Amino acid sequence: MGRILGIDLGTTNSLAAVWQNGESMLIPNSFGEYLTPSVVSFGEDDTVYVGKTAKERLVTHPECSVSVFKRFMGTDKKYKIRGKKYRPEELSAFVLRKLREDAQRYLGEEIEEAVVSVPAYFNDKARKATKNAGELAGLKVDRIINEPSAAALACRKCGNEQDETFLVFDFGGGTLDVSLVDCFDNIIEITAVSGDNHLGGSDFDEAVAREFCREHHLDFDELSPQRQGILLESASRAKCGLSEKKDVIMSVSDGEFKGQMEMNNKKLIKISMPLFQRISAPVKRVMNDGKKDMLGISKVILVGGSCKMPSLQQYLCHTLGEYSLAVMNPDYMVALGVGTYAGIKERREDIKDLLLTDICPFSLGTGIFNAGNAKRALMSTIIERNSVLPCSHRAHFQTASDYQKHVVIDVYQGEEYYADNNIHLGEIEVNVPPAPKGKETVTVDYTYDINGILIVDVEVDSTGEKKRQVITTGTDTMSSDEIKKRVAQLEKMGLCPADQEEYRMLFAWGERLYAQAFGPLKNAVGERLDFFQRLLYAEQNPYKVKKWKREIENFLKNAENYLDDKEIEWNPEDIDSWYEEDEEDDEELREEDRLWHDGHLTH
Ligand code: ADP
Ligand code: MG
Repeated sequence: MGRILGIDLGTTNSLAAVWQNGESMLIPNSFGEYLTPSVVSFGEDDTVYVGKTAKERLVTHPECSVSVFKRFMGTDKKYKIRGKKYRPEELSAFVLRKLREDAQRYLGEEIEEAVVSVPAYFNDKARKATKNAGELAGLKVDRIINEPSAAALACRKCGNEQDETFLVFDFGGGTLDVSLVDCFDNIIEITAVSGDNHLGGSDFDEAVAREFCREHHLDFDELSPQRQGILLESASRAKCGLSEKKDVIMSVSDGEFKGQMEMNNKKLIKISMPLFQRISAPVKRVMNDGKKDMLGISKVILVGGSCKMPSLQQYLCHTLGEYSLAVMNPDYMVALGVGTYAGIKERREDIKDLLLTDICPFSLGTGIFNAGNAKRALMSTIIERNSVLPCSHRAHFQTASDYQKHVVIDVYQGEEYYADNNIHLGEIEVNVPPAPKGKETVTVDYTYDINGILIVDVEVDSTGEKKRQVITTGTDTMSSDEIKKRVAQLEKMGLCPADQEEYRMLFAWGERLYAQAFGPLKNAVGERLDFFQRLLYAEQNPYKVKKWKREIENFLKNAENYLDDKEIEWNPEDIDSWYEEDEEDDEELREEDRLWHDGHLTH
């Protein structure tokens, strides 16, 4: 069996891991970083950028860059970019393709299979869309794992081995997942999950950006997408800065406007109070569902980038009481767990005795006749939310009107009272012999497995007629023919080649700073980009390219610092001093220069 890649396909950031030498190992991307931003951007020449470069282009080219598409997985939302339409799973496929290519390069082997994590709150359609995304990226994904289950798996691996129950609090860029996890012997069982899949770090960025606008008498909603992007980017940096420093200055310059705002944790709490208040509801719900109080919980494990906010940790201490908050690599927990799971799936000797159970995060049922209002069927639950998977439940129904000829079993997912307020997954119709109402009965079995596939069996008790339906797709997810066709189309669009990526990133970064800067600094950034472009494409002298890449990087770093923090006084003549000469590097370059001139380095 080939190597299986574990992928944390996040709303904001994605990561990959494999099982290696008895542990889960994170795989660095082409920049040597573990986090690849889940952003896709389309260039003029059909080049597709994924990750850090695309994130920069999100600010400078908002019209051809996309992020946060994971929120719309399994819906029929389409993104129109450069005249072409993309589904959320197609955009996700670009991210998966990038992770796969980086992993293949790093490991030096082909990878054809992956395990991908999804939020526990993803419904069937979103799960199916995730599998399709894998297929579009050339990866077989037959296992989907809930993110909190993956985090639990990682906690269990790096923690103690006693029986215990803990709360996994996963707070990322776009979603909040709260789960109760029971660990006993070698079994990890998720006993309840809850969450809010429209609450995350980006909401805090927006709160900060809106506060900035309020203080500067700007109307956030009236700003162009590009200016909003610059503002959100600065807001996010200010927010993240607060996990290191008590006070930070948020500086914004977007080519038209320049301003500053002081930020500290107290202020962050104040302006995002409505967001904090939304956090406690899922925590309470999960405790209720799991029939637990805080005393039964040994610790609260914090997962996801937003858990790095000191104000969030303070808030949790305040609302949960004296709990040991365990903060271990919040950024990496899910990916490490998926990597472990990939190892389990590969049936590696060193972990095969670990058993992971999962639960159904929503109720599954059917609509039944509503005597009070014949037009609106009521939901009758067959598999209850939080049932341990795989599971199978049986229910019996009888005819509702005299001499009816058919019985229709509508399959719904959700917690709502009226059936039509839930998500409709499918329907099965069977024939029944005409008889007075209530005389004919049908037996319905729902079987739901760990991969999110629901099998519905219906049997007419009097005639023995049986029908089965396997529910995987609705009308708005893709068929396998569609996928095949699309794979061929998407394959024509190349990801930015790895050896070009660092340069493209440099340009994308430079372009963003160019958009943000004013006056002489703007010109200085522009000139350097032009210069480097000429060097790279016209002169093609690798020694010079290498030397100037470092210099320009240094320059951009300084420009970024300057734009971030107005306290650096700047005058145009100082620009040259921003190029820091590094003796050692220079020595190394001279050495390379010699080799190059001796003809050893060919290009
Ligand atoms: P996702 O699971 O949604 O992909 P992550 O777990 O990677 O997301 O978290 C991303 C979020 O974490 C972003 O909103 C980012 O702003 C936030 N974040 C990352 N580092 C910090 C930090 N030091 N302080 C506050 N927020 C942070
Ligand atoms: Mg995450």
